[in-house]
Amino acid sequence: MKNTNEIWEEVVETLVKEGMTDVTIKTFFKTGIVFPISHDNSTYTIAVENTFTKGYLLKHTNEIERILEQICGSPKKLIIYLNSEIKNRQNGITAEEDTKKDRSGLIKEYRFDNFIVGPSNDFAHAAAVAAAENPGDADYNPLFLYGGVGLGKTHLMHAIGNYIYEKDPTLNIKYISCNNFTTEFINSLNTKKTYDFKEKYKNVDLLLLDDIQYLANKDSTQTEFFNIFNDLMNSKKQIVLCSDRKPSEIETLTDRLVSRMNGGIVADIKFPDLETRIAILEKKAFDFGINVPFEVLNLIAEQSLNNVREMEGLLKKVRMYSKFINKEITLELATEAIKDSLNHDKKPITIELIQEKAAEYFHITVEDLCSKRRGKPLGTYRQIAMYLCKKYLDVTIREIGTKFGGKEHSTVIYSCNVISELIETNPEIREYVTDIEKLLK
Ligand code: ADP
Ligand code: MG
Repeated sequence: MKNTNEIWEEVVETLVKEGMTDVTIKTFFKTGIVFPISHDNSTYTIAVENTFTKGYLLKHTNEIERILEQICGSPKKLIIYLNSEIKNRQNGITAEEDTKKDRSGLIKEYRFDNFIVGPSNDFAHAAAVAAAENPGDADYNPLFLYGGVGLGKTHLMHAIGNYIYEKDPTLNIKYISCNNFTTEFINSLNTKKTYDFKEKYKNVDLLLLDDIQYLANKDSTQTEFFNIFNDLMNSKKQIVLCSDRKPSEIETLTDRLVSRMNGGIVADIKFPDLETRIAILEKKAFDFGINVPFEVLNLIAEQSLNNVREMEGLLKKVRMYSKFINKEITLELATEAIKDSLNHDKKPITIELIQEKAAEYFHITVEDLCSKRRGKPLGTYRQIAMYLCKKYLDVTIREIGTKFGGKEHSTVIYSCNVISELIETNPEIREYVTDIEKLLK
């Protein structure tokens, strides 16, 4: 069975073979704006970075579905989400992770033996191991882990779950995100099944509740959680909680909950230092089964990113690029693959930069953008680019006209006015403009 990523790689390869232009493929790929998410018997889901790409792919849905059917041997419907929708839906857990869950909602890939320990997380790790070895022990109950996004909290939680499960598969382990917990609770109210809801949690041996900062402002869920919490504590069942901040910093969390949460161990996870980051990447590369030279690991780790998940994303990009152009991973190849994310000094905004970014965004060439060709959509793309030049640069209308292939003064003014108006009335145009602005900044 091929996994979701492998299938997508084949789709891209087939598109290339079938003659989709290099520019299109490269812009899609280089900027990392299409992300394979999951697949099942009848669907294949991807997420894309922006509305434009979504529109573009929607136009090619038939082609892609045909290729998917070739690769998978059965018809699949292509589902396209915007990345932001996925993020909202999953809140913290990526969809890819979601598909990996099985027993009790645990992701079996998140284990202690592939969690790299360093000064930033050694205390949290030790506390997690202790809780896993002695679940319910008053010294480690509840265990409260906190720290920024993408630093390994969820990984440690699942590691505890997997460890305990492997020692005793008969135990009732429950991993749930706070938002899902809230939804379950509200559904039980609506369907008058609160009794079932309570019973279900009463019978849990290990409760892993993720991202509990989302309990803020949810009074009735807090009350319900407090009751479950007390029941489980009284019967010496282990509870592990995660949050992006300390209990006392979660606004509107009732004092009694804060004091309960502080009653066991509270451990924070910080951003790992360079050595730990390299070690994490090395481990991930090993798990991916790829050979990555040290200088490439170092390059990725040195990008001052603030979370491990993003770092992993860069490694995946490098891996995919190397597969795609069928060459070994070298420093040169890696630099090319992730050059958009590299931390070089920001380029100053110029007419050329705006043209480059707009062309990249619309999957056309700068020549097209500056050509004499009229008509939609090219004309609109050109108008947007001109509008951005006027908005961001202290240059004359004449200069803009010249740099856009010798356009008349009046054409430039007209373009800028049209787009100013459309921004107010047309959400699609507004989104194109703000997306390109993000690329510039
Ligand atoms: P959080 O819950 O803190 O937002 P996650 O646990 O989801 O973060 O971690 C994000 C990604 O980074 C996961 O793929 C995880 O495996 C990886 N990760 C983070 N810290 C480590 C570490 N110390 N060792 C190995 N992988 C790590
Ligand atoms: Mg998490």
